[in-house]
Amino acid sequence: MSIKYFDHAATTPVREEVLKEMLPYFNIEFGNPSSIYSIGRKARKAIEISREKVGNSICAKSNEIYFTSCGSESDNLAIKGFAYANKNNGNHIITTKIEHPAVLNTCKKLESQGFEVTYLGVNKNGIIDIEQLINSIKKNTILISVMSANNEIGTIQPLKEIGRISRLNNIAFHTDAVQAIGNIKIDVQELNIDLLSLSAHKFYGPKGIGSLYVRNGINFEKIQDGGHQENNKRAGTENVAEIVGLGRAIEIANKNLENYNDKLKNLRDYYIREITKNIPNILINGDIKNRLPGNINMSFKDIDGEYLLFNLDEVGICASTGSACSSGSSEPSHVLVELGVPNDYINCSLRITFGEQNTKEEVLFLVENITKIINKYKNII
Ligand code: PLP
Repeated sequence: MSIKYFDHAATTPVREEVLKEMLPYFNIEFGNPSSIYSIGRKARKAIEISREKVGNSICAKSNEIYFTSCGSESDNLAIKGFAYANKNNGNHIITTKIEHPAVLNTCKKLESQGFEVTYLGVNKNGIIDIEQLINSIKKNTILISVMSANNEIGTIQPLKEIGRISRLNNIAFHTDAVQAIGNIKIDVQELNIDLLSLSAHKFYGPKGIGSLYVRNGINFEKIQDGGHQENNKRAGTENVAEIVGLGRAIEIANKNLENYNDKLKNLRDYYIREITKNIPNILINGDIKNRLPGNINMSFKDIDGEYLLFNLDEVGICASTGSACSSGSSEPSHVLVELGVPNDYINCSLRITFGEQNTKEEVLFLVENITKIINKYKNII
């Protein structure tokens, strides 16, 4: 059975040419980048080339780029690292209720350490209210952390406005851009972003490698003690091969951004057209315009999401859901709850995230199977 993969927000396969560039750094150019002999220097050079590629792709300087082990670590380092270093200026942080757990749980940890956090709600389309953001700013606010795009519903936040307000109030702006990078263009200068987290496995790079951009002049502290790597901000021998992979993946992603966007939008619109022909009572979760090109999150009325996902898997379809069903937890998704998705829809949301390899034929296969499974479910209950 061939796999039909519609879960690119969860992860993406490593591109062949990315893998090819990475391979020598495992066993041929395997030197420690801190070593002064030639293979060490070669590894160091490879890291610095990657750093430049990451910087270029978001309009940052290469000395503003730090490598980490993943998006989650970047979020931790950005928020804790900034909060600890700037606690003398204030202890208030503003974020949103729909952040990824890497941000939410970091903020919760900081609350337990004496920081104060405001969690902004979102409207029914999943977008924050700028007035509410402005009204939440206090004298002791030091940081605003708002995700660029949501991992479940793909909604893109008004980054330019948030950046403008942060700058105007002399507050640092962090954005978790893990879902956005590789899907939409982010220019940290134009958007006044001070800290930005990204992760390679969302744009056809390897898992277990991330990066954090920190604007020069922004004070932040390391949160892991050890050696002096990454300009003394992130201890640990650098993961050279993966750093090379990240650099190559982000370079390719940026070059292909427009075509990739068009392709995903076409597939998404085709899917919406076809599925709505077959199934009544569909709710699209999140703003239809301000969302990532490849993301569509729908809820089906009175359907068991776990049943749907399980049966899709039986025919080789990989998709995801934000509701209780996928994770086995009894709690519905915090994002869908925040949107106010009605009870008879919340138990079955289906997140489809398209990618490079998907075709229209695959979309038809997906629609056919969702229709069959939902009809079967209705017959047995
Ligand atoms: N932030 C967002 C919005 C994400 O979607 C993810 C992963 O899905 C992360 C952070 C964490 O990234 P990583 O898997 O690299 O730790």
